[in-house]
Amino acid sequence: MLAYQHAYHAGNFADVHKHLALYALTEALMKKSSAVTLVDTHAGRGSYPLDAPETRRLGEYRNGVLPLWQQSPSGDALLDGWCRQLAAHQPATALSVYPGSPWWLARTLRDRDQLTLFELHPGEQRHLDAAALPGEARIRHRHADGLAGLEAMLPVKTPRLAVLIDPSWELRDEYATVAATLERVMRKVRHAIVLVWYPLLPQGRHHTLLDGMKRHGLRKVWRSELSRFEATDQPGLYGSGLALINPPWQLPERLDESFRQLAALYGPPATHRSMWWLGE
Ligand code: SAM
Repeated sequence: MLAYQHAYHAGNFADVHKHLALYALTEALMKKSSAVTLVDTHAGRGSYPLDAPETRRLGEYRNGVLPLWQQSPSGDALLDGWCRQLAAHQPATALSVYPGSPWWLARTLRDRDQLTLFELHPGEQRHLDAAALPGEARIRHRHADGLAGLEAMLPVKTPRLAVLIDPSWELRDEYATVAATLERVMRKVRHAIVLVWYPLLPQGRHHTLLDGMKRHGLRKVWRSELSRFEATDQPGLYGSGLALINPPWQLPERLDESFRQLAALYGPPATHRSMWWLGE
């Protein structure tokens, strides 16, 4: 039974962290001419009106996208480029709609590329089908399990593959399942670029994912962690984690700089740290 609905959290600091990385990653990918298959294993609705009752209820975007939007331009090329894309998505000048990962991926599609979106929740899938995404002709919508669906797609026909894995982490065994899936995916497509989002919770459950990735022998994994709140102040999500496998050249350095700026813009207690978690 799927209970999670991303609309309650749309535009929060974790979305900003994840979608900034996705924006930078797709910009880097599209600098090369060879075709790329993009996969979003847990797509969500694709677009979130900020005045929807679910999104207004917790208002998490006020601690996430709003401070960045209000302080733009910040002088950081990545943060400012991202805000310009966000502005282009708005029906008017005010910030009223927050785009989800399918939009951040779809916006860069060229004729030779393709994007597959997996979403298992029937209600979320209906929203996603109705979301007006750029390049729909090159997008496949799959109402199926994202991790199994990804494995079933491999190997892909294009020379390059880039994947976002962004589960709702509702099931305790998801951390181990994702680590095991990554091992099989990387064995089949060694050059795949994979971005995994994980929550930083006081219980520290993400260590099961990270330790699993290490145990499964994954290589070239860079980690970025944006803490928005003190771990002790928050019963729930206090920070956002990203594990990036096979990052394009110089992307970690660029992201690190922009995420430090983002943390500074949020102000204390926000902090950012990054590291090469697993080497070559
Ligand atoms: N990636 C989206 C974004 O950044 O805009 C947010 C995705 S949200 C964190 C996770 C989504 O995964 C939810 O919409 C949920 O319904 C969906 N989901 C849960 N289990 C799934 C599964 N096994 N396969 C595919 N989707 C699933």
